[in-house]
Amino acid sequence: MRIGTGYDVHAFGSGRPLYLGGVLVPETPGVVAHSDGDVLIHALIDALLGAAALGDIGSHFSDTDPVFKDIESRELLTRTMDMIRARGYSIDNVDSVVCLEQPRIAPLIGAMKKVLCPIMEINEDQLSIKATTSEGIGMVGRKEGLWAQVVVLLV
Ligand code: MG
Repeated sequence: MRIGTGYDVHAFGSGRPLYLGGVLVPETPGVVAHSDGDVLIHALIDALLGAAALGDIGSHFSDTDPVFKDIESRELLTRTMDMIRARGYSIDNVDSVVCLEQPRIAPLIGAMKKVLCPIMEINEDQLSIKATTSEGIGMVGRKEGLWAQVVVLLV
């Protein structure tokens, strides 16, 4: 078994929509990013790569490469899973937390699981997605951005 951890943060400020876990978050400003800026998937990719000691998201999907401009993060996750499977690993479980002040994303977690579980070839009881706020303080509390943290166990 191999454990991995991933963290990602993005600042709000683009005119595009916000995506989290591959799901459109309605009526919420998007983030500044080279890809679609999905912090949950980016942290997930870093956790998977970390568990397999395969570097980090930037080493595989450069944020200066035009190939990845505005790419859907779930496509990056699909490519990451190809690397993980090619080395003989599968996922035992994933735990994650997303921190943003608003909106409440708990109602979207089911939809995120429906996007992410098939890509990772796991059941919904192997993926935990939690949401929290920053209680009004700090970068998240000032609604300047959001972050996600993920831990994954490979077997
Ligand atoms: Mg990112």
